[in-house]
This record gives sequence, structure tokens and C-alpha cells, in this order.
Amino acid sequence: MKLNYIALAVPFFAIFMLLEYYISVKKNKKLHHFNETVANLNVGIAERIADLLTTGTFFFVFSWLHANFSIFSIESTATTWVLLFLATDLLWYWYHRFGHTVNLFWASHIVHHQSDDFNYTAAARITVFQAFARGLFWCVLPIIGFNAEMITILLLVHGTYPFFTHTQLVGKLGWLEYIIVTPSHHRVHHSSNPEYLDKNYGDMLIIWDKIFGTFIEETTEPKFGLTKSLGSYSFLWQHFHYVLELTVAFRMAKTVKAKLKVIFGGPNDIDARIRSLLERKFSKKTVAIDTKYSKKLTNSIIAKTIVTMIVLFLTILFSEFITAFNVILITVFIVLSVIATGAMLDQKKWIFHLDFLRGIIIGYLAFSFFPNPLLHFVIALFGAIGVFFYQTIHSKYQDFLFSN
Ligand SMILES: [Zn+2]
Ligand SMILES: [Zn+2]
Repeated sequence: MKLNYIALAVPFFAIFMLLEYYISVKKNKKLHHFNETVANLNVGIAERIADLLTTGTFFFVFSWLHANFSIFSIESTATTWVLLFLATDLLWYWYHRFGHTVNLFWASHIVHHQSDDFNYTAAARITVFQAFARGLFWCVLPIIGFNAEMITILLLVHGTYPFFTHTQLVGKLGWLEYIIVTPSHHRVHHSSNPEYLDKNYGDMLIIWDKIFGTFIEETTEPKFGLTKSLGSYSFLWQHFHYVLELTVAFRMAKTVKAKLKVIFGGPNDIDARIRSLLERKFSKKTVAIDTKYSKKLTNSIIAKTIVTMIVLFLTILFSEFITAFNVILITVFIVLSVIATGAMLDQKKWIFHLDFLRGIIIGYLAFSFFPNPLLHFVIALFGAIGVFFYQTIHSKYQDFLFSN
């Protein structure tokens, strides 16, 4: 039985998140807000499942570039591994710096910075769009001559290390502060204090920031999050608000030069009023970070998040045994789940429609995995009841979630 052990990343990171939460409560430190935590997990869950579909593509592209365009033929030796590590870390620095200074890349990287909390759950805020942007930068490596296997292993290291720099529980680390990226350095990077903006881009080594003039030490207490908080926990809004802002700015730009500046310029070139305009257009209400949710809503959100994480874990673990179509269907289920959970945090009234769709997918998958006629009958019966009493169930569901 060939299991996909990449799935273990899910419980591995979850254990550290729980441990950090436990220690922070013990120390009487308020490092987590309910809505921030769930929204952070949502982004990470979607990225993990998208990763399952895209990792093979990157491996293929790296192999193809290596086979056809490599300048050198680089063998796997201790020296070349060190060189590869330095090359990947340097590329990461520039990928990350462009991620902040070029709107095209900021449109995906902004999601990583939307959390006003700073803890291990914020580390999960990586989007699949970011993985694509990063993949583009990493294409330099097979062209230099590193093979796809070596690159993939280094990508794993680069994907794991930064998780541990997203914490407020670790102070300064003495002489290590001079060499590696520490939690202190990354706290600076995630804060919106004016002096800290656009600093400390490094992933594993801090030396690049020192060489290229973007290093700053953590001296004052950081205020985490974007300069203007989003005030929304909607999965879709978090992912696409900036793309919409860019689209409006692009349309408003009169000349070709101005239009190019919207895409390749920095976030400061975008009129801040556009976001307010879009918020009005989409009737977005600001949701406070310390919103108190009803007990039933809170429990439903927690249950849905745990179930989605379990589905994610099992899907990755058994991915070799699930048909491509069912993997895509489960991906749709997971994405609908995180959209629904985000909508619950924003207390939207259309959650039932998504949950109904989720129910249909569960029904189909259940029958696909266990093709038993009796099960088929039960699923069809539930489906028919759902369609027939749609409005009634919808309003009962609303009452259940939003009554105290
Ligand atoms: Zn960043
Ligand atoms: Zn970060």
C-alpha cells in the first residue's frame, strides 16, 4: 500500500499550533482570536489540497527545463547541496521582495499578511497562487543545472522552516540572530509599524536582507497585519479583494503607462479609496477581530474546520487510491467548506446553499467509495427530502446558527 506521507504535514503543524495555543494560555498571553485562527487555517487547508494537484506539475516543469535547457550538469555532492541551498534562499528573498513591491505578486502574497494575529496559524496563510509565483522564480534552478529531485527536497525544507518563525513565544536567539531568520526578524516583517514596512524578506538566512539593505532589528513592539485591516474573514474576499482593486485601478488608468504601473508598480501606487468603493459595492460590513459568535455558530465552525482538516489529511494520505475525478470533487468539497466557514465568520445568510452543495458531493462520494444499493437508496431519499423541503430546512438552519 503506497501512502502519501506528505499528509503528515497536517497533524505535524496542527500539533505545534495546539502547543503554542496551550503555552500562550498558560502564560496568560492573548495571541489568538477565534475568527483570525479559523480564517488562517482555511487559507492553509485550501493551499494544501491545491498543492496535491500542482506539485506534480512543478516537478514535471523542473524536469523538462533540466532536460532541455540546463547550462551545467550538476551532480549531487555536499558542495552542490550547499550551493543549491544558497541559491534557493537567495531566489526566495527576491521572490518575497517582489511579492511586496510588485502588485502582480502582491495580489497573492497579501493573503499571507492579512492576519492581525501573529502565531503558527498565520504561517498557514499561503495560497496556491503564491506557490505558482514561487515556482516561476525557482525555474532558474533547473536551467542552472540542478535536477528536479534536489530542487523538490529543498522546496520541502523551505516550506517547513518559515512555519517556526511565525511565533511571539520565542524571543531573540543570541548569535543566531546574525545568521538565520528568527521569529524576531519575521515579527518585524509581519508588522505594519511604519519603520518596519518592507523589511526582513529572508526565508532561512537573514544575510540577504543585510546585503540588499532591507534589514531592520526588532526594537519596538510590532503591530501585526496590514496597514489597513481587511475587517472580513471571507475566504473569497481575502483571496480576491486585491485582484478586484487592481482591476478597478487598471480600468481607471488612462494611459498604457499608467495601466502598466498598476500591474508592475507597488501597492502604494493603488488608490486606497478603491477598496472602500468595492466594499460598498459588495455591501461588506466590517467584522471586528473580537466579535463574539453564538455558541452554536462557534461549535459549528469548529466542527466544520476539524472535519475539513480530517478530509484533507485522508485525501492526501490515500491520494494514490482515489480516482483523479474524485480528488477534484473532494477539492471542490474542501474549497466549498472553507468558503462556508469564512462566510459563517462573517455571519452571512447564504451558507446553507454551500452546505447543500457539500451534501450532494458527500452523497456522490459515499456511493462512489461504497457502491451499495441500499446506501444509494438512502442518499437518493435524503437528496429528495433536501430538494423538496429546501426553503424550510434553509430557514431552520439559519435559526439554528444565528440564535443564541
Ligand atoms: Zn511577506
Ligand atoms: Zn510570514
